[in-house]
Amino acid sequence: MSTLLLWLFVVVFVGAFTLQVATRVRLIAAAPNTFSVDQLGFRISRFLIDVVGQRRTIVERPVAGLAHAFVFWGFVAFGGFTTVEFLSGLGIIDLTHTGWFAAYRVVLTPFAMAVLAGILYLLIRRAIVRPVALGDKVSVESIVIALFITTLMITFLLTWRLDEAAIAGRINWWIHACVILAFLALIPGSKHFHLVLSPITVFLKSPELGNLPNLDFEKEQVGLETVNDLGSKIVLDAFTCVECGRCQVNCPAWGAGKELNPKAIILQTQDALLAGERERKLGEIYSEKVLWQCTTCGACENQCPVGIEHLPLLIGTRRGLVSNGDAPEYLGAMYNNMERRSNIWGLSYDQRQKFVDSAALEMFDPTRHDVLVWLGCAGAFEADFQKSLRALFEILRARNVRFGVLSKERCNGDPAKRTGNEYMYQELANANIADLKAAGPKKIITSCPHCVKTIGDDYRKFGYTVEIIHSAVFVEELTRDLVVSDTGDTSGVRHLADTVVYHDPCYLARYGGRVDEPRSLLTRFGADVKEPVRNRENPYCCGAGGGLLFADREEEPGSRISDVRFKQLQETGANTVVTACPFCSIMLKGAQASAPQNDVQFVDLMTFVSGRLKKA
Ligand code: SF4
Ligand code: SF4
Repeated sequence: MSTLLLWLFVVVFVGAFTLQVATRVRLIAAAPNTFSVDQLGFRISRFLIDVVGQRRTIVERPVAGLAHAFVFWGFVAFGGFTTVEFLSGLGIIDLTHTGWFAAYRVVLTPFAMAVLAGILYLLIRRAIVRPVALGDKVSVESIVIALFITTLMITFLLTWRLDEAAIAGRINWWIHACVILAFLALIPGSKHFHLVLSPITVFLKSPELGNLPNLDFEKEQVGLETVNDLGSKIVLDAFTCVECGRCQVNCPAWGAGKELNPKAIILQTQDALLAGERERKLGEIYSEKVLWQCTTCGACENQCPVGIEHLPLLIGTRRGLVSNGDAPEYLGAMYNNMERRSNIWGLSYDQRQKFVDSAALEMFDPTRHDVLVWLGCAGAFEADFQKSLRALFEILRARNVRFGVLSKERCNGDPAKRTGNEYMYQELANANIADLKAAGPKKIITSCPHCVKTIGDDYRKFGYTVEIIHSAVFVEELTRDLVVSDTGDTSGVRHLADTVVYHDPCYLARYGGRVDEPRSLLTRFGADVKEPVRNRENPYCCGAGGGLLFADREEEPGSRISDVRFKQLQETGANTVVTACPFCSIMLKGAQASAPQNDVQFVDLMTFVSGRLKKA
């Protein structure tokens, strides 16, 4: 009788589970295939560290992360126990009296205690503490799931006290079995489905942050316009979200009070998919305004513990809008500059040439030069940043590095790519690649983190590979044999203080992982480096990326991202801010100009090093 009843329950609840899973699997299978398993070794090691070891979950929020990790490890550990109990209860095979099962139960006991402690902590956090990342409302579903897990662990622990054959033991067994079945039926429709999907999503996540495969125009690819266009990884991502809000609290746009919320973007995608709105325009679902607020800093994607990739969705949708002529007005001007003059400022080549002549730069020749210095749009045309490049040239000359530049450069195409103008990006990239191939450098140095990312990573998608290094990294290695103790004021830096705060550029630190070299340089040359909140691999963006350098921020809700960052830097008490990216420098100086009276000064990293070297 009890076997029959269990069969009935299993058919109903497993049926409910299967139906819901089938809906989601169908949607994933129907989407254009964007799954990739390249770099298998990297994927396996990341899987072991981030899924099995739960590193990302624990590192970002140690206490909550560890509590979550206990629940996850318990979920995995109890898999075999649950299977054996059900096989026995259904009368298929009884393994519950074997020696190994008895040993297994003993091993599971500390797991059960750890899960119990973890879930009670998470329950209190969710229902009483309620951190902002989890949203305003207490989720009833989360409370129910937490109570389910608590019941499962208590009923398991009670098996040590109760005789399985006695009435109390039988009731305990049935409660355990029914809660498992109810849990099973509940999870596919809830965020707890990530228990099943997140190992797959983490494995399939691109090894590259912000991976944006080139559009193939011959296949008439134009980007993402409707729900129908969403690729299989994006659909999988939408069903994996655990609603933890890490992407949200790390997003500089959300942090500055704007409408963009990367968590909401993922959940809106999920809703649209489940509602079957296949023809619905993505610009309508997310609101176009929100889509243009993203700086492409990568914080959301980098912080997500379950392998969700926001940027292919955000920039893919921008591509769809641009292909329909729906880019915001300020981008029209930038595109026009890039089209006519191949640089974002719209300035003529003569100006670059003047700089090249005045800095006495040689044209690159692989037989005479060790490295090619890539000036970039900022280096070629922006007067302030040219000072930084002159400082770099002085360092290279002082250390006998033979270098040259190209006679002509175009913008690397980053602002076009990250605002969705793929056609323009590919035109610029292909022309630059042709010039670079003709020049034949083995190594390129640049002071622009966006150039490092685009030429180093994005150009590889056209088959062009070259070693490109940010000047901070190159100069750090170049000056390792020097120890400078002099801390005097040099090289036009006004009253350069010993105490500085270093602002990590997103494209150097988060995308490139280069956080130690700039700090090593600063300390090597006598600075006491203060750390702001949001530093190293998870910096707070300056607000320039994704084409937003040219946006009219005054019309936006909330604060300017650069103002928020400037305040964070000021709060360290250091009155000298060191930057290593031309765009960070422009944004933060702009923020300083509109901030209340302050005596903060900015110095570029290369200018700092060059000044100290001269003094030495
Ligand atoms: S890339 Fe940065 S700005 Fe864009 S949604 Fe993600 S966190 Fe926000
Ligand atoms: S997208 Fe990732 S980080 Fe953001 S809420 Fe979902 S699971 Fe958390």
